[in-house]
Amino acid sequence: MNNIFRYIILSLFLFSGCSLIKEMFPPSPENILRNNDFNWEKDSSDNFYYYFETNSTASNKIGKIKSFLESNYADLLKLNGINLYQPKIKFFMLESKEKMELLFGYKTNGKSIPKDNATYSVIGKKTNALAMHEICHIISNNVLGDWSESWINEGLAVYSDNDWHGYNLHQLSNYFLEKDKIISFKELFNNMGSYNSLISYPEAGSIVKYIYEKYGLEAIKILWKEGSESMRKATGVKLEDLESEWKEEIKKFSAQNVKYNRVSAK
Ligand SMILES: [Zn+2]
Repeated sequence: MNNIFRYIILSLFLFSGCSLIKEMFPPSPENILRNNDFNWEKDSSDNFYYYFETNSTASNKIGKIKSFLESNYADLLKLNGINLYQPKIKFFMLESKEKMELLFGYKTNGKSIPKDNATYSVIGKKTNALAMHEICHIISNNVLGDWSESWINEGLAVYSDNDWHGYNLHQLSNYFLEKDKIISFKELFNNMGSYNSLISYPEAGSIVKYIYEKYGLEAIKILWKEGSESMRKATGVKLEDLESEWKEEIKKFSAQNVKYNRVSAK
């Protein structure tokens, strides 16, 4: 399958989640700021430039948004193994997925374009995608370089928020395990795009959390560059054994109170 076709297929699965798609020619931040369908306002803080529309949900709570991003920023740098990141990240906020579609041609809650140092998130009345996720993509991609497999890129971004729809990542993975919806490591590592992103994303986050907290950032860096084939090199443990270890760990997090009705679709 050629790459362009593969990205089109991926986009069909990911309309509701963060965008994994590497488009060939996304619009640049400069072009977006010149787009007459939008009425942009600007603001800034120590580490971000903010762009949002006049009278939008984001404009009404820009103070809270700035303090959320700045207060989580140092931890995000630490997660990526750095103390300083420059230049400031461009943080665009859109009122709805429909507005996102106007810019990029498809509906998504969030997307990041590392080469432009720019992220785009829906912060509106219906959807609030305010999180560190897209910012993590920008920093990880620019600091750690090209990633080998989607699960490590998305898993690290999910782990940067260390939460999914209000649930602990291990707790939610234990819920998938109990519901027989867990995706095997082999499938997740090789075919993440074919699975429901509302399962694959938090599960990838839980796996990255486990590896990061037990084997450290150096293990993550190896997996980032070389992929799951290098699991033994990264952790000293065979892939199948690591999968068993991880399952034992997530079982420690009771899924009894989880109410997550998004596990039906493949
Ligand atoms: Zn993502």
